[in-house]
Amino acid sequence: MSAAQPAPVSPLSTLASALPPEVYRQVVDQADIAISITDPKARILFANEAFTRTTGYSADEIVGKNESVLSNHTTPPEIYKAMWTSLVAQRPWSGKLLNRRKDGALYLAELTITPVVDAQGKTTHFLGMHRDVTELHRLERMVRNQKHLIESVVDAAPMAFALLDTTARVILDNQEYKKLVSDLQVKEPAHHLLDSLQPHWREQFVGDPQSCLFAAREARIDRPAGRARWLSVTTSVIDIHSDCADSYFCAAGQPGLLVVIADVTILREEQERTRAAVLQAVLAEEERTAAIREGFSAAIFRLEEPMNVMASAISVLQRRDPASAGILQQALASSREHMESLRQVIPPSPPEILVSVNLNEIVRDVLAVSTPRLLGAGIVVDWQPTPTLPPILGRPLQLRMLFKALVDNAIEAMNVKGWKRRELSLTSTVERDCIVVAVMDTGPGIPVEWRHKAFEPFFTAKSGSGRHIGTGLSRAQQVVADHGGIIDLDESPGGGCAAIVEFRLDGDPI
Ligand code: FAD
Repeated sequence: MSAAQPAPVSPLSTLASALPPEVYRQVVDQADIAISITDPKARILFANEAFTRTTGYSADEIVGKNESVLSNHTTPPEIYKAMWTSLVAQRPWSGKLLNRRKDGALYLAELTITPVVDAQGKTTHFLGMHRDVTELHRLERMVRNQKHLIESVVDAAPMAFALLDTTARVILDNQEYKKLVSDLQVKEPAHHLLDSLQPHWREQFVGDPQSCLFAAREARIDRPAGRARWLSVTTSVIDIHSDCADSYFCAAGQPGLLVVIADVTILREEQERTRAAVLQAVLAEEERTAAIREGFSAAIFRLEEPMNVMASAISVLQRRDPASAGILQQALASSREHMESLRQVIPPSPPEILVSVNLNEIVRDVLAVSTPRLLGAGIVVDWQPTPTLPPILGRPLQLRMLFKALVDNAIEAMNVKGWKRRELSLTSTVERDCIVVAVMDTGPGIPVEWRHKAFEPFFTAKSGSGRHIGTGLSRAQQVVADHGGIIDLDESPGGGCAAIVEFRLDGDPI
């Protein structure tokens, strides 16, 4: 048999063996953590200087005693049970215990016990290392208490909060905000509101956070089959310090956008009620004036017919009976003068300046004003607005008159004796670069061949009614055209008439 070859010696183990053995002892003695070595029954065989500093027991006093002398006997028995289960299985154990110093003072010990196993696999000793973490625990508790306190205050606040990071992620919110999520049925109400109040906020927040600051801007949220809600939004920029390790030495934080949302619905509803009453009076007045205007226009339009006949008669008579032709000519000229005077007294449309208009608000105004008529005619209204609609540039009174004319037409179409299905559906949608508002009824509808004619002045499909002179749709078309839009008539899903109005978002009103 050949002699066994000696194992190769690594340079590192050579370096370690160069350490004098007493260094190990000195390291353990002088380490700034309480170290004790026990036998398998937890009887202390060795304790270092830090152990004495932490417990108050000198090495002479403690050696030979069980570690349990440190116990305050208030640590739950399950903890010791878990500790010993680990140690018996030769697994290290870490945890916190309530200890009592020699002078009777209590402290919280953070302890790690490691079993020392010999070559035969037998536990010969335990190595215990512990430190006093009472102060750390106090600080942790304080932070936790403060966090709990802040969360309670934030949750009790009557407004919703959401804190967004630079990637627009909501990193903190409160109960009111969570309520808003379920009430509005949108994933992130803060995004939804910011999108409508400051469309480019995401890019702006990354480039220049301060440009996203604003106070008490209001957004109206129209919910299908629900009350509209008015939310007042205020933003502020705050510094967020990251808890990642890589930011440990970095003093500067990341900006966070705090969005505070207050519900001002009750206040706005009150104002809306007052506004609706005023609006009703204004619309009634404008309708009255429009009726006079149309009455005159219709009269002039109809008078022009016999005058044209007179003009043809004059040209025929001119050669045969010049004298009669002259008399007729005079009569025609004076009729034209009177017609001109009549034209002069037609009340002009009130001048209106272009402002930013929300079409949902216009339609809602019209429905509010028309409620008594709709109820009187037993018409069920289904208003399905797109929750937030971009504004267009327009003339609010003209637009209200437009939708009122469409709603009035629908009411009249269905409010016929014996007509059973009486449903009015209105929708607003954003389609590509357009806002589309549809007013759909379940009346008899307009035959295809009349759909173009319906926009001609003085065309009416309503027979026998003295009130109808047929200018509603032609006036509506004029308002739509003035706003750079288009209006069309179609068959509604309920078999009635669908008036579809389309406004371009970049439309150029005249
Ligand atoms: P004990 O009668 O000592 O033990 C309670 C239960 O623990 C027993 O019912 C049994 O299930 C289990 N148990 C105890 N000893 C053994 C064992 N040898 N083998 C298997 N199971 C056992 N305790 C502290 O309170 N503070 C300390 O700082 C602390 N440091 C320790 C350091 C080391 C290195 C070791 C090994 C133990 C340490 N202990 C410490 C645990 C301590 O030895 C006691 O187990 C504990 O204090 C409970 O004491 P007791 O008198 O209430 O109950």
